[in-house]
Amino acid sequence: MNKKILLKTVQSWNINPKPKYRGFRCANCQKYMHKAWHIWFDYKGFKCEIHLCRKCYKKYKEN
Ligand SMILES: [Zn+2]
Repeated sequence: MNKKILLKTVQSWNINPKPKYRGFRCANCQKYMHKAWHIWFDYKGFKCEIHLCRKCYKKYKEN
């Protein structure tokens, strides 16, 4: 798993100041899903978790 690509994805997010109650989505393609790959990594000393669909997980794994 390439941390740089994970960080790029995280940094591309637009932070919404309001909490939102919604379905579960892939961190990369925004597809709604019920089950996801959970990937944990360290970002500036903070633990981050991102969720990926199967397709994106495959793509990330290859990088
Ligand atoms: Zn995806």
